[in-house]
Amino acid sequence: MNEIQRLRAAVSPLLAWYNQNKRTLPWRGAFDPYRVWVSEIMLQQTRVEAVKEYYLRFMARFPTAKALAEADVEEVLKAWEGLGYYSRARNLHKAAQIIAEHGFPNTFEGVRALPGVGDYTAGAICSIAYSLPCPAVDGNVLRVLTRLLASGENIDAPETKANFASRLREVYPAEAGDFCQALMELGAIVCVPNGAPLCGECPWQNLCLARESETQENYPVRAEKRARKIERKKALVLFYGEEFALVKREDKGLLAGMWQFPFIEDGAENYGEVVVEKRAKHIFTHVEWHMTGYLVRAREKFPQFVWASAEKIAESYAIPSAFKVFLPWITRKVN
Ligand code: SF4
Repeated sequence: MNEIQRLRAAVSPLLAWYNQNKRTLPWRGAFDPYRVWVSEIMLQQTRVEAVKEYYLRFMARFPTAKALAEADVEEVLKAWEGLGYYSRARNLHKAAQIIAEHGFPNTFEGVRALPGVGDYTAGAICSIAYSLPCPAVDGNVLRVLTRLLASGENIDAPETKANFASRLREVYPAEAGDFCQALMELGAIVCVPNGAPLCGECPWQNLCLARESETQENYPVRAEKRARKIERKKALVLFYGEEFALVKREDKGLLAGMWQFPFIEDGAENYGEVVVEKRAKHIFTHVEWHMTGYLVRAREKFPQFVWASAEKIAESYAIPSAFKVFLPWITRKVN
């Protein structure tokens, strides 16, 4: 059996398994491209369990692309607060302006041209919303497929996704949406990334070459990971009366346009009396922040900062998760 024959043989057992075993998720059964799009963007880099509640709240607040387009970007960022990778929210808002004006695109190229949509997301939206044979290949799908085929292709090489997408295109069934979701589901609950895959529950147990040779955990093959860069930061939680100092991050790069407690280069005591300090670490994809936070009673209301009460911050300022560790200070002003 060659690779294409093996993939073709894998389609029906996978679909049958998916029908029996798929999880009930709030976005499942949605064929409205807007809903599929929002769920797929939220699911990038974020666990299903974490997304569920955000998705329901987001849909209640922005039920259509028009509602999203008309909202203020700060409000969208606030609704996204805690999900991370905030450029996704900015791009959703930007793309909603296009969709509100021209309608949701209904071709792969049209969907792919929306801000923030890559090959994977465009493939998922087209498969699920329009039943088009557009493969969506991410790390999860690559893991499952490299195991099925015992393929030693390096999944970090730029061409690998395209190679698997073109093989999948050859075997795509009419149930495009189910097939696309079934691949993801298998990777999420059976052919799992951490620990041993649950081969005994897998619809491919008689087809899978990695299982046959008992080499499941050798796949996927990855390039060596580069170490994350460590950045040391001093974060100032500065209060004056009932108000706290905030600054807005630059409009590009990490956490673009989000609000944060100011980072300082000089000593915290230059701003007033240090009440307490605390160390914290936050891990991004390529960078680690090793932070020391200082709660400081300001000796004056420094004009370079924006000042807001704890209530106002909770209501209107989107603060990224990296700073959540210091938030108890602003509600209680102690650790
Ligand atoms: S048989 Fe095991 S290794 Fe192969 S696809 Fe299924 S869960 Fe993954």
